[in-house]
Amino acid sequence: MGLHDIKQGDLALLGLPIDHNSSFMTGPAMGPQRMREALHCGAANLTSENGHDLGNDIRLKDLGDLHFHDTSTAIPFIEKQAEEIMATGAKLLSIGGDHSVSGPLIRAHSKRYPDLNILHFDAHSDLYDEMQGNRDSHACPFARAMETGRVKRLVQVGIRTLNKHQQEQAEKFGVEIIAMKDWHPDISVEFDGPLYVSIDLDVLDPAFAPGVSHHEPGGMSVRDLINALHRLDADLIGADIVELNPHRDLVGMTAMVAAKLTKEVSAKLLAE
Ligand code: MN
Ligand code: MN
Repeated sequence: MGLHDIKQGDLALLGLPIDHNSSFMTGPAMGPQRMREALHCGAANLTSENGHDLGNDIRLKDLGDLHFHDTSTAIPFIEKQAEEIMATGAKLLSIGGDHSVSGPLIRAHSKRYPDLNILHFDAHSDLYDEMQGNRDSHACPFARAMETGRVKRLVQVGIRTLNKHQQEQAEKFGVEIIAMKDWHPDISVEFDGPLYVSIDLDVLDPAFAPGVSHHEPGGMSVRDLINALHRLDADLIGADIVELNPHRDLVGMTAMVAAKLTKEVSAKLLAE
């Protein structure tokens, strides 16, 4: 399936199999394949919890994985591909890949949607100006997104690793942070205007999602995260689910979590 198969009202699913911008370990390049395997493994049907049968919704179109010829141009390549997909009028759900993919994805969305809001679930704020000399590191995508000046609001949820540099970056960019220590299940954030959601699987406690590169104990449960997604009352226009690292996974349980989130987010993106 390609660009010519998608149109206004569709939801394009796109795999981004890269991990060369990971600062600590590789593995997330295998994420999209494992997530699709979990999604179609036959252990569960394709119906979301609100009853939306994605298996019978022809608007959900899997474009497969983006093929990267050259890692040095991967970031601008993602941005251009995202722009081309959105030019058809389809929404985009990207599955990673490490979190570096969110920089170009958010830049592309912010060009199409003025006043874009971002809701970012993560143990880490990923606001570093650079990491190990790499400005495209998976530790930096939200700095790259905010530097455009086109993002209206960035709200980060689940953060539990904020150091001084990233605190300063958050202040500089006006980022709103709901730290994990302050989060509780009744918190809901309201957004005015289009909303893009970025989910780093390490926002979850490693007990629920061991298949990530950076284990950061004390995180959300899968139930907490799904409920937070269900409660969102906003115009959801795009999303990504990133940082599945199959090398660290146990019996595919994190891949299944990622597949479950793919279903719930897809249903939300396809709801009118
Ligand atoms: Mn993270
Ligand atoms: Mn992240």
